[in-house]
Amino acid sequence: PPALFLSKIERSYAEGEGALQILRGADLAIWPGEIVGLVAPSGTGKSTLLHVAGLLEKPNGGEVYIGEQPTVGLDDDGRTRLRRTEIGFVYQSHHLLPEFSALENVVIPQMITGLNRQEAAARGSELLGFLGLGQRLTHRPAELSGGEQQRVAIARAVANAPRLLLADEPTGNLDPGTAEHVFTTLLQLVRATGLAALVATHNLTLAAQMDRRVTIRDGLIVSAD
Ligand code: ADP
Ligand code: ADP
Repeated sequence: PPALFLSKIERSYAEGEGALQILRGADLAIWPGEIVGLVAPSGTGKSTLLHVAGLLEKPNGGEVYIGEQPTVGLDDDGRTRLRRTEIGFVYQSHHLLPEFSALENVVIPQMITGLNRQEAAARGSELLGFLGLGQRLTHRPAELSGGEQQRVAIARAVANAPRLLLADEPTGNLDPGTAEHVFTTLLQLVRATGLAALVATHNLTLAAQMDRRVTIRDGLIVSAD
């Protein structure tokens, strides 16, 4: 099955007397091992789409599947459990815990889902090593460069081996060269693991290197190729 399947998603926000309809029946499938760019002007609903796909917001209509799992009948606990194990998030800012080392930042989410410290540390070191941070395990976020911080954030996002990675402008705070490097590392991770990634970005150079591009038009998801 797709890692993410969105079927006929509707999402509106209350606005004055009426409703502002952002998504109007949006369909999208992201397959394992695929990295898809979400390239759309501001205000068209990118964050809304990522929040619905990430089970942070419920749609007003339509269905979200994570792998085979339908989410329509899940209560908040069920959604949270599924989010923690199957979905990773990366944002424009790294949101790492400042008092903890790079490795600890990657270990903590794994311990929350029940791994013991040793297993979590082993996986965390391996992941950080894969992302080129083998010499940075004990550094705190403030001791890392912007690109290194984002690579730690990527490691944290995939620490629990989720099926799906949702990224909202993951390189938006980085200079072009660093953005390219962080993206290349992410691409290698996707290729090596079969992770599925949906990446909202304004960076057309990076989007061009993804498997395909989609945009949001009139509340629907359409190909941007
Ligand atoms: P994008 O990420 O493409 O910039 P968003 O999904 O953030 O777009 O927002 C799309 C539209 O929905 C915007 O007009 C925004 O003001 C509105 N919107 C987003 N979130 C909310 C909310 N929680 N309440 C009301 N309106 C919202
Ligand atoms: P910036 O790009 O300035 O760093 P973010 O994109 O990090 O801003 O904004 C934080 C986003 O995280 C908000 O849009 C918010 O809706 C979203 N969010 C809220 N709760 C959670 C959660 N539990 N897990 C992941 N993201 C969340």
